[in-house]
Amino acid sequence: MPRKVVKTKAKTATKFKKVSRDRAQEMIDLLCKRYPDAECELTYKNDFELLISVILSAQCTDVTVNKVTPKLFKRFPTAKALAEANLEEVQQLIRPTGFFNAKARNIQACAEGLIQKFGGKVPKTVEELTTLAGVGRKTANVVLGVAHQIPGWSVDTHVQRLSKRLGLSKEADPLKIEKDLQKIFPAQDWSKLSITLIWHGRRTCYARKPDCAHCPINHLCPASLLH
Ligand code: SF4
Repeated sequence: MPRKVVKTKAKTATKFKKVSRDRAQEMIDLLCKRYPDAECELTYKNDFELLISVILSAQCTDVTVNKVTPKLFKRFPTAKALAEANLEEVQQLIRPTGFFNAKARNIQACAEGLIQKFGGKVPKTVEELTTLAGVGRKTANVVLGVAHQIPGWSVDTHVQRLSKRLGLSKEADPLKIEKDLQKIFPAQDWSKLSITLIWHGRRTCYARKPDCAHCPINHLCPASLLH
């Protein structure tokens, strides 16, 4: 006999229901209160280290990246040193972050790009940053927002998921989500709000089983499993 398919609440929670700007602001204000200390969880000393760390953080936790980067940057502290490094040595240093062969090639190509195009310095525009190997808009906006306080939305997997659940964007494409978020919230808040949503996604609004019972916006969120 064929099995009966039972819809789970988690599935219905992913349906999109757009909220008003006021409600969006109310939700985000409450999340900012929940996470007043939200900040980038990568350890870095300068924008070069941050850029390389963000590239390494793809498909990997910040905790793991923070374990490998002290040795990596001690050995190769500048774009020039990293560009000229032995590829195998770089691969071994970053091995725990996963996909280490591709990531090693990427960070080395990125370092070469920094030297060839920007005199070894990290540029300060999304357009310039995204010409570098391994750097998309998400990475560029993290670097600009965190290292230089230049506002931008970094639409990672958490921001994508929460934008939908909170009714902020029905889009799936990160660039379209970014545009929707830009329209709702004031520019000066973009970087802080990106990190706040990422913290909420990591600590409460999990991908598989959101902890709605302990969520400060469960009375406002259209995807809450409690109503
Ligand atoms: S109520 Fe909170 S935890 Fe639940 S889906 Fe909404 S934002 Fe996520």
